[in-house]
Amino acid sequence: MSSKAQAPVSHFIRNIIEADLASGKHSGIVTRFPPEPNGYLHVGHAKSICLNFGLAQDYHGQCNLRFDDTNPEKESDEYARSIQDDVHWLGFQWQGEVRWASDYFEQLYQFAVELIKQGKAYVDDLSAEEMREYRGTLTHAGKPSPYRERSVAENLDLFARMRAGEFADGARVLRAKIDMTSGNINLRDPAIYRIRRAHHIRTGDQWCIYPMYDYTHCISDALEKITHSLCTLEFEDHRPLYDWVLDQLSVPSHPRQIEFSRLELRYTLTSKRKLLQLVTDKHVSGWDDPRMPTIIGMRRRGYTPEGIREFTRRIGISKSENVVDMAVLEGCVREDLEARAPRVMAVVHPLKVVISNFVAGESASREAGFHPDHPQFGSRMVPFSKEIWIEADDFSETPPPGWQRLTPGGEVRLRYSYVMRCDEVIKDSAGKVTELRCSIDADTLGKNPVGRKVKGVIHWLSTEHALPVEIRLYDRLFTVPVPDGDKTRDFCEFINPASLTVVQGWVEAAVRDAAPETRYQFERLGYFCADRIDHQPGKKLVFNRTVTLKDSWTQEQG
Ligand code: ATP
Ligand code: MG
Repeated sequence: MSSKAQAPVSHFIRNIIEADLASGKHSGIVTRFPPEPNGYLHVGHAKSICLNFGLAQDYHGQCNLRFDDTNPEKESDEYARSIQDDVHWLGFQWQGEVRWASDYFEQLYQFAVELIKQGKAYVDDLSAEEMREYRGTLTHAGKPSPYRERSVAENLDLFARMRAGEFADGARVLRAKIDMTSGNINLRDPAIYRIRRAHHIRTGDQWCIYPMYDYTHCISDALEKITHSLCTLEFEDHRPLYDWVLDQLSVPSHPRQIEFSRLELRYTLTSKRKLLQLVTDKHVSGWDDPRMPTIIGMRRRGYTPEGIREFTRRIGISKSENVVDMAVLEGCVREDLEARAPRVMAVVHPLKVVISNFVAGESASREAGFHPDHPQFGSRMVPFSKEIWIEADDFSETPPPGWQRLTPGGEVRLRYSYVMRCDEVIKDSAGKVTELRCSIDADTLGKNPVGRKVKGVIHWLSTEHALPVEIRLYDRLFTVPVPDGDKTRDFCEFINPASLTVVQGWVEAAVRDAAPETRYQFERLGYFCADRIDHQPGKKLVFNRTVTLKDSWTQEQG
């Protein structure tokens, strides 16, 4: 990261940790990142990863990676693998082995038996719909299930038989016996086990009952002796249940749950379920489509881990709404790339220029450094020749006021080369400009022209030296800031039809052997990254535009 990377920003969770360390409540901290392997991670998860792993780093503690694998139907090895890759790619390493909630299935079962023995859990035979009815509403208290007062012996027997597979899926559940009149609906005897015959990615068909998230999560945290269990605000109302479960059981620790606000980014989505819909309905090419806000999508687009980490540092941690402009994320990526990406020239919309006074052997080429601030990046020759490509929109026959690029009779500086004048415009029968005839001022290589000022500088390529390149230009994926804001409409209606444009352009031969994921600044155009899937060094060059050089978001919005 550039010198702009800064010290951690203080926030309320850091304050809590520092107080706990100062008071001796904890001598070190243990955090965890607890994803469900039911999809690829997105930029919101990046916030949580950077928070949990970042705190462990800053306070010399540890951070576990624990999969919350309690919903076998939706979970897969592919997702679990991708999540580990994403965490590594962001620059973090978890403590020890990957952990799984399923590692604790037997212990969780025994804890449930313990609750039953204490008279604090019971097997309920109500149907899901009846249970909903009995639960009541925010304004009406719930009423007890007719099965609530079953004896401990009967509950132990039924629960054992649930595990043994004697009952159909959904026929019975185990519920915590807390308070059907609680103002907090989460405490109205929540289900803690359900029957589900589904193949599990790790335990196979060993179990036909699965513990519910709220019950599993707090016990897993306690078994791992997590000190600070950080989660998003929607779990605030679940905290009393988290604490209730741990208060009943003899677990090795009682972690403190602390909630912070979810990150939401304008013009995109931060919900795995909705991102999955974009994939399954083929609105994007996959979870790693560079338009996706997934970590793998951002990676493929060319975002850097350093840029994403800096972004999560800048947006901060709090309990207030965290809706952020894409411009903030792009700004962080741009700043990072500005310092580290070598610069070369590419032409996206080529227009051919013939240099009428080019003299072979006399008209010279120049050497150019790959980065103005980093001579150690090296340099290459930028070959000049009789025919060059320039960017079509760097030429205008009827330029607007203040135009500093090429126009008939006007002059412009070719980057790292001569000052060139446009002498003649060639058009096809439809009036479209197909070629320009220009001449160079031979006395302007590396020096200013005599007696006049030439302000404009444009990029260009020698046609005989340039290499063809497929360039993928990305725009925002949605046309509205909050695509899922209108509950009466499907967010897919707001997909931006122009979010991807593929063009055939040209690029300097200097990038010929660039490995996939190599990043460059294409001068005046933006930052680009060799596609990690389709780019083949030396054979087929494919570059994704990561971000433009200037912020195009706030300008368009403002
Ligand atoms: P989604 O709603 O996208 O499916 P999730 O919360 O169900 O996300 P999990 O796999 O359970 O996904 O999330 C793992 C961790 O990441 C949780 O601690 C969760 O709070 C956190 N997290 C998820 N989304 C965000 C977000 N938008 N901002 C910050 N943290 C998030
Ligand atoms: Mg979740």
